[in-house]
Amino acid sequence: MKRPAVFFDRDGVLNEDDSYAFDPDKIRWVEGAQQAVKAVNDAGHLAFVVTNQSGIARGFYEERHVRNLHEWMLNELAAFGAHIDAFEFCPHHPEGLVERYRILCSCRKPQPGMIRALLERYAVDIDASFLIGDKQSDLAAAQAAGIAAYLFDGSNLHTFIAPLLTDRSYPPDQSRSYRGGAGTED
Ligand SMILES: [Mg+2]
Ligand SMILES: [Zn+2]
Repeated sequence: MKRPAVFFDRDGVLNEDDSYAFDPDKIRWVEGAQQAVKAVNDAGHLAFVVTNQSGIARGFYEERHVRNLHEWMLNELAAFGAHIDAFEFCPHHPEGLVERYRILCSCRKPQPGMIRALLERYAVDIDASFLIGDKQSDLAAAQAAGIAAYLFDGSNLHTFIAPLLTDRSYPPDQSRSYRGGAGTED
């Protein structure tokens, strides 16, 4: 039985994009993020995170820090009765300092590798699935994987996602102020 899935970008969607964040003590949840994940769970959809973490290639932190942060996020979400079914992160960057991560990979968004990996591991109803991102590269990754995508406006994630879960034909108002160019490349 295939299930719809919601693919969340992480930085700038679930947590505020504070530039290469990896320390749980410094993480600030986006308003409504935990409730948004809960709503996805309650709708019977799979909840995935697909996140570029070039901070690993850049030598700012290690894979274990990212895994630790995701464990922490799962614990935080559990307090809301919410969960993420799977996290995928890309540690690469073509100009990274750390040699083993310095590659032009197929997982760094806008490439669709992380989404495709999840589609191979889970039975996903692609036509009923969508991605929420805060950058055009997120949307491009979804498009390359054949999945609908919406540009999060940076307000309340639950308010943003609720209509998408009940009626996919709902047109999200892309004209609302988009806090783009928030600085660093992830
Ligand atoms: Mg982002
Ligand atoms: Zn990669």
